[in-house]
Amino acid sequence: MGLIDLASSNSLWRGIDYYQSKNVKKIKKISDDEYNSIVSGTEEYNVHIDINHPRKSTCTCPFAAGRRVICKHMVATFFTIYPEEAERIIKEEQEYEEAEERLFEEHLEEVKEYVNGLTDDEVRTALIDKLMDEWYDDDYRW
Ligand SMILES: [Zn+2]
Repeated sequence: MGLIDLASSNSLWRGIDYYQSKNVKKIKKISDDEYNSIVSGTEEYNVHIDINHPRKSTCTCPFAAGRRVICKHMVATFFTIYPEEAERIIKEEQEYEEAEERLFEEHLEEVKEYVNGLTDDEVRTALIDKLMDEWYDDDYRW
């Protein structure tokens, strides 16, 4: 698995934020798949990433020190080296959010059409059913 696949969603998005804010100060290529960098956050951290063996990557931040985890500083370093990867992930997320919004709008229109077609009595009955369903679902009463 690649470094980005091993990162938690939190580390991924905070790393993208650090990449976009240009928090990665210095990058030094050690070999074809190893890089050292300095990333500024609360403090400046020394980061080493190993693209082929992501678990061997290290960072001096409290989150990653002494643990085999991928932190936001490693993610930011990775995206500074491979900006097209960051752009791809950001674009995918935007497309997903746009699709979700479209679904929401479509469903809202369907619900409006349905409710507008009901009589007052039907609206009252539907509202009572809905409120009772919520009461049942929220509190596990039975
Ligand atoms: Zn770190």
